Amino acid sequence: MTFILPDLPYAKDSFGDIISAETFDYHHGKHHNAYVGKTNEFVAADSSLSGASLSKVVQIAKDTGNAGLFNNSAQIWNHSFYWLGLSPEKQAPTGKLKDMIDDAFGSTEGFIEKFKAEGVGHFASGWAWLILNNGKLEITSLHDADTPITHGMTPLLTLDVWEHAYYVDYRNARPSYLDALLENSINWDFVAQNLDGNGVSRADQG
Ligand code: MN
Repeated sequence: MTFILPDLPYAKDSFGDIISAETFDYHHGKHHNAYVGKTNEFVAADSSLSGASLSKVVQIAKDTGNAGLFNNSAQIWNHSFYWLGLSPEKQAPTGKLKDMIDDAFGSTEGFIEKFKAEGVGHFASGWAWLILNNGKLEITSLHDADTPITHGMTPLLTLDVWEHAYYVDYRNARPSYLDALLENSINWDFVAQNLDGNGVSRADQG
């Protein structure tokens, strides 16, 4: 199948100074789009991949050691999941999710502090993740295009810590980018929806 660049689930100017329209133009319109184009080139050249869902392509690429296909297809999935986890309106975790956050991190502020530390401490390019592991919330980070969907982890939320995610708006200040998004721009409804274990399909295609 041919993968597509999914539309952003909000207007690209709806985050004000927190994420500029220019960042979306480049990050979604150029970077994410390039991963889609390159993945489609790999898929077009290999009939064994035809008809596979995006997450299946990612898994096949990992299993067969096809690094080029893995990097590009995993980056489609990671970016689609990232956009879905952001909200232009400030939200707060509620209900069962709030209880689980309090159990794991003490409070929502405790979560923000730990997630920010993970993202800031991650060396070079990658992604910070909130995952569900054996019924408990955990924070981790993965390098480059690596994705929790090939590690048996249940993804709940991610923030991109590649420089291209923040350089337009924050220059080299990764901590300021993480602060701004964690305090103002998390789609906690999306995070709660992923507690059912079906988070993989939410950014999947096909
Ligand atoms: Mn990115």
